[in-house]
Amino acid sequence: MHIFFATNNLGGGGTNVSRFLMHLDKIKTKHIGILLNYYYLNNDLKKSMSFDQDVLKNILEYSDIKDFVRFVKTSFIEKKRKPDNLIIELDDIVKYYILDSGTGNILRDLINENNINNDSLTNLVELYLQFSEKLNFNLVVALDFALKYTHKKGEGESKIYQELSKGFVNNEKLNLEILRTTIQCVKDNNHMQNIIAPLHGFSFKSFDSYLEDILNLERTENYKFYGFGLGGIADTKKLQNDLWNVPDTFNQKLKSLWIVSQLTKNTAAKISNRNLHILGAGNVHLIPLITYFGATSSDCHSAWRRANDGEVKMLVPLVNSKNQLIDNKNSWEYLKISTIKNLNCDCPICQEYSTKDLWKMFSSGDNESLYYSKILIFIHALYQYDYVISYCEANNDYMNAFSNSPSLELNLLYRTVLENIK
Ligand SMILES: [Zn+2]
Repeated sequence: MHIFFATNNLGGGGTNVSRFLMHLDKIKTKHIGILLNYYYLNNDLKKSMSFDQDVLKNILEYSDIKDFVRFVKTSFIEKKRKPDNLIIELDDIVKYYILDSGTGNILRDLINENNINNDSLTNLVELYLQFSEKLNFNLVVALDFALKYTHKKGEGESKIYQELSKGFVNNEKLNLEILRTTIQCVKDNNHMQNIIAPLHGFSFKSFDSYLEDILNLERTENYKFYGFGLGGIADTKKLQNDLWNVPDTFNQKLKSLWIVSQLTKNTAAKISNRNLHILGAGNVHLIPLITYFGATSSDCHSAWRRANDGEVKMLVPLVNSKNQLIDNKNSWEYLKISTIKNLNCDCPICQEYSTKDLWKMFSSGDNESLYYSKILIFIHALYQYDYVISYCEANNDYMNAFSNSPSLELNLLYRTVLENIK
């Protein structure tokens, strides 16, 4: 079974980010979980400006993350962050929560303060493990330092940061050191949560060799991670074609599907049935491919972005709730809501609200209706993810089905990707 995690940056994102958590009762799905970021959830970490930070104050007093989310809902309902007359159920059926670190940021802060050494690293890792254990996350992505290709303002000021960013080799060394520290903390304090080790690289080969290094580390330390995560591939535009041997004829979409699929296959072959999470790259086209090649979970922020940036865009479905492929134009594309006539969608959101209703709410001038419409449009996309995963579960021959779907464009994409997988 594949689980898709919807990213939520509570504590860090804009105002609508926290409102989304209020509406988890609308997600009645089997395969959708929530990804939260430690960097934003942890009030002790230095952050400039973050919305709704006050709900985070006592986060460690809750018995688990679901209990905390219930509290967040109650608190936002009291603050009337919803349209009038809308009834929200406090309990929901979202079962899976993954904690990602957002540690590019944490480590950057430490580095900027010239504050990274063995003690501070152990301290940071241990606090992270305690946090994830106390709140009982189903999966925890180990802390790591993601190589960044673009620098935000201020980041360039730190010489050490620049040095670390200069070469992947240095990053890899630091990341292996963080994983070694993670194993040490787990052993010293008997942590029991399911930890995923993130992998990075600048080519298929470097991903492989980094994985080998971690497997060696596991042997030396006599410890096994619960699984692995493929990182740094959310935006494949940044991956250099020549380093990845991308065929000349591939456009951006094909390149992305092919690299992530091939990496998933390569990695799955080496980790003997352990969990494999695709970090940030689980767009809807990729779900069947990565499931097929061995990924057990993924996350992706693009559906949220499409619903929240500028004019909202809705995902055109290809699969319905009855495990059938539907004949829609522009399947799996995000279309501006004002241009949509009929999506043929039978998800609970579209059963309750027509695109006309959503557009009305979006353009009503009432803030809460505007926010709510964006959240509904996002949840409609999550249902599509759920239906795609259900389809893969119910049909053994799903790769063949998605290569012969009513969408000719999709068929061509899938066939080309599959032909080029080694
Ligand atoms: Zn829908």
